[in-house]
Amino acid sequence: MTRVALVSGGSRGIGRAVVLRLAEDGYDIAFCYRSDAEAARELELEAGESGVRVLGTRVDVCDSAAVRDWVTRTEADLGELGLAVTAAGITRDKPLALMADEEWHQVVDTNLDGVYHVCRAVAFPMMKRKSGCILNISSVAGVHGSPTQTNYSASKAGIIGFTRALAKEVGRYRIRANVVAPGFIETDMTAGLSAQFRENALAKIPLGRFGRAGEVADLVAYLASDRAGYISGSVFQIDGGIVM
Ligand code: NAP
Repeated sequence: MTRVALVSGGSRGIGRAVVLRLAEDGYDIAFCYRSDAEAARELELEAGESGVRVLGTRVDVCDSAAVRDWVTRTEADLGELGLAVTAAGITRDKPLALMADEEWHQVVDTNLDGVYHVCRAVAFPMMKRKSGCILNISSVAGVHGSPTQTNYSASKAGIIGFTRALAKEVGRYRIRANVVAPGFIETDMTAGLSAQFRENALAKIPLGRFGRAGEVADLVAYLASDRAGYISGSVFQIDGGIVM
């Protein structure tokens, strides 16, 4: 497998930690973001200190054509892709009875359609080369469900079904596809939680703390490596034991 990686949603949080970790492992990396260009430029410089090429591009994963262009340009600029990690994701939490159609569609479009767009764009070139690894970031909400997150839970459960089907489809092309399902991780996504919510969540986590983005990145790096060469179609929770 080539050491060229594509990371969606790489500018902040878990995706950012993945970019830094893969750069340490010697990958050239193309990552995308939606709006935070300043964070992206800073990350290009920081990850580039590992001596690899790192290209941040503004690409909305909801835009199928833009994702295809991004993949094509990445292969032209950095070389044949060996790894794709889909970390772009959003929340719009609301009890179902109060949810607006827009809140539903924004979350499903970004979290599920976004994964479909990236995977479809990378699958064919990987199939032609009979080599590749796809890691989709879901959530424990997608495994077990989470109240006030029907939109998010549905999108993240969709990623699991999608990835398992994909693993069955592309295994014969020596492409592995797996899911990483984090619990509560310290990022901007969880920074807005109320003190009361955090306290309740912490009480349910046997390890007694939220996870770090770098810990998720370590799991991603392992699953991307040859050491995980016989792992495909699996879902890996990294959640301090909050659900078992
Ligand atoms: P975050 O800190 O909010 O970062 C989200 C990243 O996704 C940013 O780089 C953002 O780019 C990008 N993004 C959002 N919408 C996008 C779009 N339409 N097109 C391209 N990029 C887009 O989130 P996080 O906590 O790192 O979460 C990363 C992934 O892990 C998500 O899929 C999330 O659902 C999942 N996850 C997180 C947790 C957690 O506790 N944090 C738990 C379970 C699962 P901009 O900066 O440009 O907006």
